[in-house]
This record gives sequence, structure tokens and C-alpha cells, in this order.
Amino acid sequence: MVVGDFAEELETVVVGSGPGGYVAAIRAAQLGQKVTIIEKYKIGGVCLNVGCIPSKALINASHQYQTSLDSKLLGIHTKETTINFEETQEWKDNKVVSTLTKGVEMLLKKNKVEIIKGEAHFIDGQTLRVMYDDETGQTYNFKHAIIATGSRPIEIKGFKFDKRVIDSTGALNLKQIPKKLTVVGGGYIGMELAGVYANFGTEVTILEGTKQVLPGFEKDMVKLVENDFKSKNVNIVTEAMAKSVKQTDKKATVTYEVNGKEETIDSDFVLVSVGRRPNTDDLGLELAGIKTNDKGLIEVDEQGRTNKKNVFAIGDVVPGAALAHKASYEAKVAAEAINGSKGAAVDYLSMPAVCFTEPELATVGYTKKEAKELGYDVKDSKFPLGGNGRALSLNKTEGFVRLITEKESDTLLGAQVAGVGASDIIAELGLAIENGLTAEDITLTIHSHPSLGESVMDAAELALGMPIHI
Ligand SMILES: Cc1cc2nc3c(=O)[nH]c(=O)nc-3n(C[C@H](O)[C@H](O)[C@H](O)COP(=O)(O)OP(=O)(O)OC[C@H]3O[C@@H](n4cnc5c(N)ncnc54)[C@H](O)[C@@H]3O)c2cc1C
Repeated sequence: MVVGDFAEELETVVVGSGPGGYVAAIRAAQLGQKVTIIEKYKIGGVCLNVGCIPSKALINASHQYQTSLDSKLLGIHTKETTINFEETQEWKDNKVVSTLTKGVEMLLKKNKVEIIKGEAHFIDGQTLRVMYDDETGQTYNFKHAIIATGSRPIEIKGFKFDKRVIDSTGALNLKQIPKKLTVVGGGYIGMELAGVYANFGTEVTILEGTKQVLPGFEKDMVKLVENDFKSKNVNIVTEAMAKSVKQTDKKATVTYEVNGKEETIDSDFVLVSVGRRPNTDDLGLELAGIKTNDKGLIEVDEQGRTNKKNVFAIGDVVPGAALAHKASYEAKVAAEAINGSKGAAVDYLSMPAVCFTEPELATVGYTKKEAKELGYDVKDSKFPLGGNGRALSLNKTEGFVRLITEKESDTLLGAQVAGVGASDIIAELGLAIENGLTAEDITLTIHSHPSLGESVMDAAELALGMPIHI
């Protein structure tokens, strides 16, 4: 505590207002706690401001652009499809992002969560110091704290973020559609943003260090995305190590090594998307005695509790997938735990992961390989979207629904969906896994016709050996 400064007393304080922090704050308030949330930048965190939401807005705009270019097949002829990217960006910022962030701020206020705009640092295990923009500060003692400070893009050696070398935030906020874009890193963020600009007509090259882009997804799913990228002239170079970049006012030249040979590529911008680093290094965690692992992630128990009993951590600062819905899920568990619930604990089996490429990829539960490694005797049933009337009428038949079921009981253990609407279809499969449903339970559920969801029922019928549509 600073000399001459009187500390204010807080009950539950949440640091960071992303999908982890704001959800934790609202749930803790609903449970009757007096809650304060501290945010140094903008309410909504990465997800709402520079992550999930703006990226999906641009993905949607780029799909609409592509669809309009391809509409001749459906008998729709437009004279000329043009794009005013400034207007696209304005729509994304003013109609999508700010509507949501304002909405979240309103929800916090409605739930009587006190919002403090400032940067928080621990002084010890019960005290935070908050610095405001005007360089004044205030000390707060707290009973419980939830750390939800999220993550930031990793900067690799030789690729300092600058005018032409940009991170995902830079790629989301370009003023013009680049003619050429090089993407270093073929994870889901890089692939989604590569897809946006490829749809808008940019010549895109992806440099991926490992053997496969989107390493979190199975090969037959990734192949579909690769095929789509090929049709849009996206060049994917795997096992390519980006070594250095030279920037001028007009372009950036990347030198990379592939097959033991050095190559160079020129582009307007280089997007570096090689992963994210937790925001734990500047928080004063050592002063609070809170331990982090060698990656800077805060180790927590199944309730989100750190090694300090009264301090919890959620979202991108703790181990596991860096995904918004994981952060929000952990947020609710931590709020319950602070409220004294002994039963609240995380269980990630029915947590989906989605990549919003073309086609969308989604997975939940175990893959066949994972289930086998765990000793399950399983089978997989793969229903192609080509057999689904709704997919055909949408002119989007690429992809499939695959169920992983236990052979004897037909219990659903996992599912993978590649195709249009995969991000929504996966929700039904998560629900089925969470509730221990069998393939028969799914077939006994009447699915509306024609719908993409019917492909889940068809895959379940396939699992039972009684398929109608294949
Ligand atoms: C381009 C992109 C696309 C993405 N798309 C998806 C997607 O489609 N689906 C998905 O599930 N996930 C997606 N993600 C990941 C998702 O955004 C993160 O997993 C999620 O935002 C993590 O939530 P969080 O609450 O842990 O932290 P964040 O959202 O990172 O929020 C942390 C907040 O803490 C604040 N903060 C940090 N330090 C302090 C401090 N000392 N004092 C006060 N405040 C502080 C920050 O300003 C920030 O607002 C995407 C990410 C990116 C970059």
C-alpha cells in the first residue's frame, strides 16, 4: 500500500472483462456477491473487441462477397459486385462490436457490478493497486479475486509488429484489402483471417512450420479447407520456417526456409499468428505468491482456485484451449466456488472447438484415435453432407458429420463436423455427450426437415446400421 493512501474494501474483484471476466462478475453478482470488475482497456476483452466477434463479422462479409460473385449458378446475375472495405469496417466496428460491448457494459451495471477503468496489479495476496489513465491510483483490499486478464499475440524473433508486420488485431483493422498477404502460422486464427482476405480476392500465402495447418483437427477435415483455399489460389507452404522480414514503406519481404532451401516472398502485409501468451507477466503475481508454470499460465484446481485459496484464475491465463466459451464456462464454476459450492468443478469433455473456415470445422469429445488410446472399443460413422437435402439446397455439400460411439453401448463419445453450419450443429452433439446419450437416443429425436441437423440423425442411424439416406 502506498503511504498516505487509504485502501478501499472489496468483496469479490474480477480483473479483466473478457468472456471470462464479465461472465464471472455477472454470475458472482447473481449469486449475491458484491462484485467489482477492473478493466484497463475496453469492456468485452479480446473476444468482443479484437477477437471472436470482429473476425466473424469480417468472415461473414467476405462470404457474402464470394456468394455474390458465385451466384450465377443459382440464376442470379448481378451487373458487378464491388466492395467498399471502409464501409465493411465501419459496419463491423459500429454495428457489431460496439453493440455487443455496450450490451455487456449494460448487463454488468444491471447486475450491480461496479466497473473500475484502470490497470490492476497485485501488491500481496489480499491487495490490488489500480492505476488510472491520469496516473493516479487507488489501493483495494479484497476478499476474493478472479484473474481473467487473458492473452496477447506472441511476437517472434525478427518479426517485430510494425506497419507491415501485423498481429491479428492489425489484420482485423486494415483500411484496405491488401493485394498480397503472407500469414505466418496456420492455426485457427491465421487460417480464419487468411480465409477472409482470400474471399476478398487477396493473394494469400500461408507459411506453417509443422506438417499440417490446423493441427487441432483431423486430416480429412483439414483437407476440405485446403481444397477450398486451393480454389481461391491460397498457397499453403508447410514445414516452412519464417526466418526474417524486411520492411519498406510499401511492402514486406519474408525469408523462410523450406526443404533446406531459403525462399523469399513479398507482400503488402505479414500477419504473424503463431499463438498467444498469457497476460500474467506484469500482474505482480509474485508479490501475491501466485504460481505460474513455465509458459506463464496460472495452475489452478478443478474449481479454478490458484495456490492462494482466495484467488481464482480463468480463461486464457490458465492451461487448456484459449477459447472464449472455455473462459465463460470456467467463470461460472469459479463464481460458484467462491460462493461456497463444493460440487462446482470443470469437466471439459463436452467442450467444442470450432474453426470458422470454409467449410467450418467443429469437434467435441474424443476423436476415434483419442477414444481408442483411452481403451474404448469404438466405431466411427461418417455421414456426408451430400446426402442432406438442406445442404444441397444451400449449394454447400462439402463435408460430413462423424460420430464416435462405443461399440457395445452405442454411447456417443465424440463427434466431428465439417461443413456449412458446423459451428451450430456441434452444439447438439455436445449436449448428447454431456448427457451420456446413445446413437439410438439421437435417432429417436425427431429432427426438422429439411435441416442440417438431420445429418446428425442420419449419422446416428448409420452407427446403428440402419441408415436411410446412405
Ligand atoms: C482474432 C481472434 C479470433 C478469435 N476467435 C475465437 C472464436 O471464434 N471462438 C473462441 O472461442 N475464441 C476465439 N478467440 C479466442 C478468445 O478471444 C479468447 O480465448 C478469449 O477472449 C479469452 O477470454 P479471457 O476472458 O480469458 O480474456 P480476454 O478476452 O483476453 O480479456 C482479458 C481482459 O483483461 C484486461 N486486462 C489485462 N490485464 C489487465 C490488468 N492488469 N488490469 C485490468 N485489466 C486487464 C484486458 O484489457 C482484456 O480486456 C479468438 C481470438 C482472436 C485473437
